[in-house]
Amino acid sequence: VTEKAVGESHGGDDATTTASSPDATSLWSDAELLRAVVYGSPLAIYVVGPSGLVELWNPAAERLFGWTADQAIGRRLPIVSDETSAEFDRLLALAFADQPFSDLERVRHRSDGSPVVVAISTVPLRDSKGAIRAVLGVAEDITDRRAAEEALVCQARQDSLTGLFARGYFLEVLEKQLLGDAATAALVMLDLDGFKDVNDRFGHHVGDEILTSFAQRLRSAVGERGDAGRLGGDEFVVLLRGVGENNTAEAGRALLSGIDRPIRAGGREFSIGVSAGIVHCRGSTRVEEVLRRADLALLEAKHSHPGTCRVFDQRMEDAAVERLLLETQLANAVARDEIVLHYQPIIDLATGAMTGVEALVRWEHPRLGLLPPARFVPLAESTGAIVELGLHVLRESCNQLRQWELEYPSAKQMVLSVNLSPRQMREPGLAGDVAAILVEAGVAASRLQLEVTEHMTATDEDEEALVRLGLLGVQLAIDDFGTGYSSLIALRRFPFSTLKIDRSFVAGLSSGWEDRAIIVATLSLSESLGLAVIAEGVETEVQLSMLRSLGCERAQGFLLGRPQPAEAISALLART
Ligand code: C2E
Ligand code: MG
Ligand code: MG
Repeated sequence: VTEKAVGESHGGDDATTTASSPDATSLWSDAELLRAVVYGSPLAIYVVGPSGLVELWNPAAERLFGWTADQAIGRRLPIVSDETSAEFDRLLALAFADQPFSDLERVRHRSDGSPVVVAISTVPLRDSKGAIRAVLGVAEDITDRRAAEEALVCQARQDSLTGLFARGYFLEVLEKQLLGDAATAALVMLDLDGFKDVNDRFGHHVGDEILTSFAQRLRSAVGERGDAGRLGGDEFVVLLRGVGENNTAEAGRALLSGIDRPIRAGGREFSIGVSAGIVHCRGSTRVEEVLRRADLALLEAKHSHPGTCRVFDQRMEDAAVERLLLETQLANAVARDEIVLHYQPIIDLATGAMTGVEALVRWEHPRLGLLPPARFVPLAESTGAIVELGLHVLRESCNQLRQWELEYPSAKQMVLSVNLSPRQMREPGLAGDVAAILVEAGVAASRLQLEVTEHMTATDEDEEALVRLGLLGVQLAIDDFGTGYSSLIALRRFPFSTLKIDRSFVAGLSSGWEDRAIIVATLSLSESLGLAVIAEGVETEVQLSMLRSLGCERAQGFLLGRPQPAEAISALLART
């Protein structure tokens, strides 16, 4: 029966069942099966006796370790070297004490001395009385698996394009540095100025070439003094070691001067500037903190001093925190009724009459007081809150205009100017919203003037938005004229009726001939194009009389009337 059961079984499970079934003879007695299993096994199998001598050594062990059974049997396990001998004795003793181990990963050596990584498991072998007589060892070659795993780890550590440290690995290295020795390290964040333009214009392969060359240069500039990594895109990071807190600025400057040269790519030469921010790591334990600080310093460099390295300053963080706070509060400012409008008179220079007002938004902040638009309009632009805010301004000011019209005869001809921001222009529903607000307020379209700046006429979308607004019958004005790059001729294709000369030219009127020349040219060109002109920022009598003598029709400025609450404008209207 046993013979038959064994002969018919193909898998190990069956063999085990046979072995454990009460009427089966023990496998130990079945020499043939035992030989088949042990000698056919793809895993290296050996048996070690209590004194550490090899009792069995299968062909897979011969193949894996290079020693033949003849060489191994009766000796101490040959794969154990002098260094691993003590450990082997300990593990063997444990196995004999019925504490076997499994998948223990070890480096062992072959007969030719070459290393092999193996996963070793042991099984105590008992005699019929249950006493542990020997220990079975099973070894699996995991060299390739290990190598593959290591290659993967290596790959994950390296940025595939530039060969610098990849983001995740760089952050690990940085964290180790912070936990170990933060007092001598500085973090630099670098960014190529205008890289996106080059990438868009010359294609990704040129962009990639630039990044690769830059990375190479960065690596050699850093040398042994630190580690360089790429966070993504054109953003690079360097961990500089051996930098004292007092040398932070110098270290950043030195690094930048070592890399700031033109880059050859795609057969051309690109002079791409590099901006950087640096922060000393002393006292920092958190990776995010140093990264954020270096990033703030980099942003500052990019905004106000491109091509330089800025050192992080606590004020940058405070400002960023405030920005974030304002950003969240701004989202509710309209709902909380904190948005206030002031109105600045626009004056006819010939008659002195107020021909209109410009609505200028303010934020009555519960803690910071009355904030000018410079403090929150750019913020609202970047978050998109300007869309809601802008419509609110438009609605409020149109209602106000209607109010004035009803109360004061002198307000019948008054034109209301409202500023539009670029983000609003990109809203597809803008013209519809404006029309609805005009109808609701009962204000004729011709009484509303929308002010946009020159750079808002750049794209086809902008052009379309302007044309649609023009079709509604509202007037369009170019605000801050002269601060952009467009020429008046180029602007002729848009339906503008008014041009506002930026206050910087008015400010320079009395001090030099240049600003005067620009104003003269603008006035004469406007006249020939049929555009009305408003001069902004008139502060002195001298400016006023010069503008008058140059033939400027209208102006606004502190001299003629500050931006003021609606009631103050009402008082003015009541007097005329
Ligand atoms: P802007 O449209 O050019 O408005 C004129 C700015 O010049 C106002 O600043 C005004 O207070 C200031 N100003 C007027 N006369 C003088 C003067 O004689 N001297 C000087 N130094 N300044 C004068 P404000 O109110 O701070 O507004 C700044 C800018 O914020 C505005 O420039 C406009 O671009 C933007 N803005 C204001 N309200 C809104 C709004 O409701 N929506 C949008 N999108 N932008 C707005
Ligand atoms: Mg304006
Ligand atoms: Mg302006």
